[in-house]
Amino acid sequence: MGMLTDEELQAYRKAGKLLAEVREQVRPLVKPGARLLDIADAVEGSIAQRGGKPAFPCNVSVNEIAAHYSPPVNDDATIKEGDIVKVDLGAHLEGYIADTAFTVSTGENQELVQTVEQALEAAIEVVKPEIDVGEIGRVVEETVTAAGFKPIRNLTGHGLARWSLHSGLTIPNVQEETGQKLKVGDVLAIEPFITDGAGFAEDKEKVYIFRYLRDRPTRLRMARQLLNEIKRDYHGLPFAERWLAKRMSKLRLELTLRELVGAGALWPYHVLAERAKGKVAQAEHTVIVTEEGCEVTTC
Ligand code: MN
Ligand code: MN
Repeated sequence: MGMLTDEELQAYRKAGKLLAEVREQVRPLVKPGARLLDIADAVEGSIAQRGGKPAFPCNVSVNEIAAHYSPPVNDDATIKEGDIVKVDLGAHLEGYIADTAFTVSTGENQELVQTVEQALEAAIEVVKPEIDVGEIGRVVEETVTAAGFKPIRNLTGHGLARWSLHSGLTIPNVQEETGQKLKVGDVLAIEPFITDGAGFAEDKEKVYIFRYLRDRPTRLRMARQLLNEIKRDYHGLPFAERWLAKRMSKLRLELTLRELVGAGALWPYHVLAERAKGKVAQAEHTVIVTEEGCEVTTC
């Protein structure tokens, strides 16, 4: 198949299957009373138990939070009756990544959840070689607006490559002429985010997820050491503050990470919230473009 060797194709399929099993195992845990931290731990524990590694920290984002909330150490936030909860999980096998997400509504907003699932399904239907990636955005936007909701226009899907969570392609959730065409062997994460709010996500101050960018001089020797460990352990993939909690005190860790962000050594993924505090739903699958259409690895 195109740019992928048979081994690579098998690795993507294996990672996708592993992650789909984790998703279905964890889905029933997403209910009122559950701690967000327990959900993230269950996801990451189950990935490890099945022989994979997290491709990024599990995101558990509630209501108007769209993405990038990965519970910090000792987080006691719980799901409340009526909450709408996005769980976004990723796993890799030797760098071959699978990325999937689902939404659970514990109250109203069932229609928002159904619509985002329909939008993802419609998007997967149009995937084939030679289409402009903007075509995916068009069907997402049409499906979502027909139901009376809005896609979040500044959140997108992305191409995947070995050890890279965002390679080359950006997959819009609104109609766009991108000039970028799909080809056989492209690996894509398609992920509509939709809302009953303004349709725009913005950064909050909080950061719980980071990614190694480059070596930079640091003032603190400790920061230098931590950066080397991050580089070695996560291969440029995102990691959680929580994963480093055993290495030093919380205060010291926060200061060190802040210094590394300030030095340009780490990228901070700010928590993203819907601008008008609208409720947000997300659905996501990883697909591989084939001659006839695409193969979903995460179903
Ligand atoms: Mn994802
Ligand atoms: Mn993704």
